[in-house]
Amino acid sequence: MEVSLGGKSIGLDCNSGDISFLSHAHGDHVSGFRKKDRIVASEETLALAGFGAEKHTESWIQLLDAGHILGSRQMYAELDGESVLYTGDFRVKDGIFGKGAKARNADRLVVECTYGDPRFRLPNPFEVYEQIAKWTKENEGSIMLIGAYNLGKAQEIIRVLNSYCSITPIVMPESEKFSEVYGKYGVGLDRAVVGSPEAEEIMRGGFVAIVPPKLSNRGFARKLSEAFGRQALCAVATGWVMSMRHNCDAAFPLSDHADFYDIVEYMDAVNPKRVDFVHGEGEHLRKVLQKKLG
Ligand SMILES: [Zn+2]
Repeated sequence: MEVSLGGKSIGLDCNSGDISFLSHAHGDHVSGFRKKDRIVASEETLALAGFGAEKHTESWIQLLDAGHILGSRQMYAELDGESVLYTGDFRVKDGIFGKGAKARNADRLVVECTYGDPRFRLPNPFEVYEQIAKWTKENEGSIMLIGAYNLGKAQEIIRVLNSYCSITPIVMPESEKFSEVYGKYGVGLDRAVVGSPEAEEIMRGGFVAIVPPKLSNRGFARKLSEAFGRQALCAVATGWVMSMRHNCDAAFPLSDHADFYDIVEYMDAVNPKRVDFVHGEGEHLRKVLQKKLG
């Protein structure tokens, strides 16, 4: 999507405008970029996306924390007396890595609405951290698989296991390349990559492994159970467990997005004249807006 401001066009998570803004490094946002230079983004985002480009800045564009993954930013642009705020993917609630996204007053708002349906009331992340910690403690001595996306969710769960349970989880190379960038930017994560001597040692006993979501299923758990001769359980950690069934032993509603109620509150705080919804179905939120406008 593109927005125009004071005669300039800005590509929001795509490079179609005069200026391109990249909110964060998740694949569905990065994939819209063919040119890899002159992108307004945080340094962390450029590193995670593997762009390796120099950071580009514009004096009329400010980056604000988005509370989503490492380096994720909202964009606030002001030119010729007009302003636009774009959230990218954002989480309003605080998490283990810090504060949630804060609203800022703007004329126009472009807001993501992945969970823009009122049936989504996502719990506070700290409640979910407790649930994960409780599950790993209850099943100590077993093999526990936790399915989590490789960028963002995997690192959040590594930190939860480190600080709530003093567990060093086994991780896969797919998430390790991102965890290394987290480390480079000062986010220390204690983990052991599968195949390393440290991982081999840990896997002599019960262990927790963070794997891509498609690997955390009963079939794979059964194979591990046979290979290691101990009980193996599987779990998944995503906001979608609120609406979908999973073939797992445990499901944790951990999300790095705002839910419907967060978005309504956020829109109130921004108090824009115009709102556009992206990355999801804005139908329910549009109704809320219409009601407010009478
Ligand atoms: Zn994202």
